[in-house]
Amino acid sequence: MASALHAMYISAMADYEALRARHAEQYQALLNDHLARINWSEEQLRAERERRLRAIISAAKERSPWHRARLAHLDPERVTEADLPSIPPMTKEDLMRNFDAILTDRRLSRASVEAHLDRLEGDAYLLDEYHVAASGGSSGTRGVFVYGWEGWLLFFLTFSRLRVRAQLADPQIGLKPVRAVIAGGKASHMSYALAQTFGSGSGVVNVPATLPVDDIVVRLNELQPVMLTGYPSMMMILASEADAGRLRIAPRLIGVASEPLLPEMRAAIEATWACPVLNTYATSEGATAGSCGQGRGMHLNEDLCIFEPVDNEGRPVPAGQRAAKLYVTPLLNHAQPLIRYELTDEVTLIDEPCPCGSKLRRIDDIEGRADDMFVYDGGVIVHPLSFRSLLGRERHVMEYQVRQTARGAAIALRADGKVHTAAIRDAIERELAHLGLRDPAVTVDVVNGFDRQSTGKLKRFFPLAWGG
Ligand SMILES: [Zn+2]
Repeated sequence: MASALHAMYISAMADYEALRARHAEQYQALLNDHLARINWSEEQLRAERERRLRAIISAAKERSPWHRARLAHLDPERVTEADLPSIPPMTKEDLMRNFDAILTDRRLSRASVEAHLDRLEGDAYLLDEYHVAASGGSSGTRGVFVYGWEGWLLFFLTFSRLRVRAQLADPQIGLKPVRAVIAGGKASHMSYALAQTFGSGSGVVNVPATLPVDDIVVRLNELQPVMLTGYPSMMMILASEADAGRLRIAPRLIGVASEPLLPEMRAAIEATWACPVLNTYATSEGATAGSCGQGRGMHLNEDLCIFEPVDNEGRPVPAGQRAAKLYVTPLLNHAQPLIRYELTDEVTLIDEPCPCGSKLRRIDDIEGRADDMFVYDGGVIVHPLSFRSLLGRERHVMEYQVRQTARGAAIALRADGKVHTAAIRDAIERELAHLGLRDPAVTVDVVNGFDRQSTGKLKRFFPLAWGG
């Protein structure tokens, strides 16, 4: 019996490796095309968006029962971007409430993708084709995202191509530099899973962001990465480790993602290592933007996603003004069509051409609230990711708030089903102990709702005042 199970395990790993290798090969084959897209004309970009908009509307009308009614008035062969305002926007709540009816493959369901997430130990394919990622997201509401084969591939191409272009422009970086990615430690995290699918074998080393800071410093001193990628708040910690002389590395390129990069953070990181800081905006929904290293802000990957910055009433907001929210229509993933999907990120379009020559429009670095870190007596630092990655895997947790306490945290949850609060408490206490907190004490309570901030966003992390 044990040997039969072992044989099944070996065969599953061989299947995974074969699929992953095919995905990575296709990435290499398409990379030059996607680098060229960065310099496409506005006309080429518009034509590509229109072609893909028609394709996704057609797929959604044919195979997604929820979308069929909403898109009934549209002719997929004639639809253009000018028709978008006739489509009602959708929210993450809509996505989670109508999950099965939005998916375009009837073999998939909320139950089957949640079961897949529960089983994840590392990156894995579902039905040899799909990837599933869970995210807390900046709004604090949990979302589950399903990517088809092409969607996963195109997501990583748009996610990585501006960084690859900057890398190729610096002869000292070379083609296969040692690149340390300090990412989410769980396979349910998109960045971690993408790095596993596409990154292996090309000099990328994953360092879990949930390791104690001292361990991360030791790993990086050994690795001597030429490129370093991680959360802005983690880069701030590492910059201070470098300034204190404990971290001794000389990266040529820093990549940051997944959290707001405030101007003072960008300045501090640049001052420490004197190299370009490439910011990346990547949502689990498939809308992405990235810095080119030459002009300010980030280029929207608008060949594969339609971006509509709007005000609170959903009216278009012109360049130069901060939008209240963003409707996105990712054009790369037919598995779970998201059409005019509302993101609560406050973006500002930049109204000037970029010195790099790309016609992809830019947005400023998004300055929304930075996730707060908890600093405990004795200098133990706990990154919000430690909580996010554990809470994001709980299928019935809709929203949460985490308040730092003297010896741990008080966690409040809103749930749409049974949650095992004791198990969550134990897991988080173990995590805090692992990070160096002595005798951690965590409480977990289920609540009916939270008071939101005036913007509608949920503040999720409440640190104790420094030194207080
Ligand atoms: Zn540029």
